[in-house]
Amino acid sequence: MAIRKITEYPEKVLAEVGKSITEFNQELENLCADMFETMYDAEGVGLAAQQIGLPLQLFVMDCEGVKLIAANPEVIHKEGKQSGSEGCLSVGKVPAVVLRAEKATLRAQDLKGEWFEREATGYAARCFQHETDHCNGKLFIDHLPKMRRDMVVKRFQKEKKWK
Ligand SMILES: [Zn+2]
Repeated sequence: MAIRKITEYPEKVLAEVGKSITEFNQELENLCADMFETMYDAEGVGLAAQQIGLPLQLFVMDCEGVKLIAANPEVIHKEGKQSGSEGCLSVGKVPAVVLRAEKATLRAQDLKGEWFEREATGYAARCFQHETDHCNGKLFIDHLPKMRRDMVVKRFQKEKKWK
């Protein structure tokens, strides 16, 4: 296992729609192990392949008791609304309030290629939506009005400069 370098905004790969996962093999298992290690090291609750430079339909998460690997993920059902603070490892964890569905159902394939569905509410549901967005080349700041988006980017760039 190894900790991978996290890609940061505005690296192009973050805006790329991921390729479907078609092979469920040892290589995929190793990649997911690296993704978990990278996520825990960065103290995140979710990590998509785009965030380590790979445009794939793949993410891992461990958020409020929901720990899973999702290949070819899709949010198939959304219900209700929640407004809460959200951040992203690729944008320096600068927080911003994002409106999301309160309840979400994720459909994805596990390491063996078996399809599963998982329902979650609150923060874990937010994570489903955030990570599935990543797989489709979308960042949480893309949900913000332009002025707030610019503010998050500015703060991120400023903090990066001081690091
Ligand atoms: Zn993110």
